[in-house]
Amino acid sequence: MKVKIVQVGEQVLRKMARPLSLDELALPGTQELIEWMRETMRDAPGVGLAAPQIGLAIQIAVVEDRPEYAKDVLPERLSERERQPVPFHVLVNPRIVEQSEEQVEFFEGCLSLPGYSALVKRSHTVTVEYWDQDGKAQRTVARGWYARILQHEIDHLLGRLYIDRMEPRSFTSVENLNRHWKELRPHDVRKALGA
Ligand code: ZN
Repeated sequence: MKVKIVQVGEQVLRKMARPLSLDELALPGTQELIEWMRETMRDAPGVGLAAPQIGLAIQIAVVEDRPEYAKDVLPERLSERERQPVPFHVLVNPRIVEQSEEQVEFFEGCLSLPGYSALVKRSHTVTVEYWDQDGKAQRTVARGWYARILQHEIDHLLGRLYIDRMEPRSFTSVENLNRHWKELRPHDVRKALGA
């Protein structure tokens, strides 16, 4: 089942989501909810979706970067972003336990603010501990675009949106992003905008 995605301005997007217990995760209702999140993310389409985005302040996020999402992106854009396909997976109670001081900056968007984008600095590498869909403890070291997705989704679980971290002068409609900024390096975007 496809679920409605909550839009910016709803309070649930600003709440700290609560952790789940293993018992709650095992409930058929929770497993069904994860299925709905997967269908909703694919339908959007998006590379990540956090439970607050469907109105629930609980610590579940789903992530998937399918090869077809990147098929129209130039190879050099993919390589500077270090973007590679990520198989579908579920993160329950995720924590960033390590993150690189090195940050990288790219345009980023969010299904809860559709049609807009902005430059956001994120750590290049993060180590995340979480439970998977079966409640098994996992530890992942993520780099590049995948690291960005994880930071974005974990921010949702902490009541944060990318606009809290963006370079405000770079905020743009997606239409104008494609028209003016997409092919420029973040450094040159900043220069052009006086940011
Ligand atoms: Zn988002």
